[in-house]
Amino acid sequence: MPSKLMKFIADNNVGKLAKWLRIIGYDTLFFDETDDGKLIKIAVKEDRTILTRDTQIMVRRLVTNGRLKAVLIKHDNPKAQLQEVVTKLDLDYHRKPFSLCLECNQPLMPRSKEEVRSLVPPYVFETQNHYMECPVCHRIYWQGTHWQRMSKELEELAREEK
Ligand SMILES: [Zn+2]
Repeated sequence: MPSKLMKFIADNNVGKLAKWLRIIGYDTLFFDETDDGKLIKIAVKEDRTILTRDTQIMVRRLVTNGRLKAVLIKHDNPKAQLQEVVTKLDLDYHRKPFSLCLECNQPLMPRSKEEVRSLVPPYVFETQNHYMECPVCHRIYWQGTHWQRMSKELEELAREEK
């Protein structure tokens, strides 16, 4: 299966990594429970690759016999973890950046400037023209300074890799 279509489920020990994968556009569920059996069930059902720091998961039968894909994450730092996954699975840093809600993992919907007028701070409305909204939590996203900082960090990660 091409890596472009890969979906993930991040174990509770790699939550920040889940956010970074969403930033670059990969559908990543965050599993914030402790029942490994349940984690595995969801991964099988939804065809998701498990990302974890838990060696116990790596010795599960479904993983050892190759029916389920799992990646054991070695680094502590979330950005190093992202690099680890991107390199190992040949993912693309520029797949679809900022297309998913960082909180809910839902595809964002474009919104016109007028639609968000009352929903964003006035200085944002003055300076930004492109907006996206999460259909679940209704958070509004725009290409502000936070966004630019993350883009820059991604650029640096992508460069380091080469
Ligand atoms: Zn959301």
